[in-house]
Amino acid sequence: MKTRLGFVSNSSSSSFICLISDEVVSGMDLELEEAGMYECINGHVFSEQYLLEDVPLSRVRDDTAAWCRRYPERFNVDDPDFETKLRNDDHRDHRQYYIKRYAGALVDAAEQVDWIEQYNPTDGDEALQFAHDFTEKFGKYSSFRYEVPSAFCPICRLVHIQDKDLMRSLLATVGRTRADLVVELQGKFGSLNELRTSVLTTAKTNTEVINITLGETP
Ligand SMILES: [Zn+2]
Repeated sequence: MKTRLGFVSNSSSSSFICLISDEVVSGMDLELEEAGMYECINGHVFSEQYLLEDVPLSRVRDDTAAWCRRYPERFNVDDPDFETKLRNDDHRDHRQYYIKRYAGALVDAAEQVDWIEQYNPTDGDEALQFAHDFTEKFGKYSSFRYEVPSAFCPICRLVHIQDKDLMRSLLATVGRTRADLVVELQGKFGSLNELRTSVLTTAKTNTEVINITLGETP
């Protein structure tokens, strides 16, 4: 069975889920290309229409080098804070898979950074050429489709912010935890309907609240 974030599978069919639009594409032994989706190096699956364009070479080069330098930190299972760090990582659901996948890459990080710094593009779209050449040389799949550099990913670049990241930001801003907020809301309201009615009456603008759809960036 294949193991991918945003990917569910059983013995007869498989599906990819766009983390931006929630679109689901299903089929027998479906691959990302057939589904019309990409997966970035940080595990974000999204529809082709959201792939960022006009990315400067300097951006993809810097992001990719930074990503390589983080291998030892991200995949160091001997780190006592490993589990804590993992909970803040979009790869956490497939921990063992990714540790195995990048185990060999830990020693190659310096070599990859050297390659990035010395890279000289020769073609038209320099950033795309860099991305294809990098995945071909160092990628585990040798495929841009499965290893899109973060510079091209709308989620990594904050063009789309996932609800969980909005939630984390809001909680950090107001100095609350999810658990204590849940207890407070359970104590204040008797039903979901009461909670939603209260939100509508206290929100700055009702339109904004009503139009919020899970997973969607307006
Ligand atoms: Zn991403």
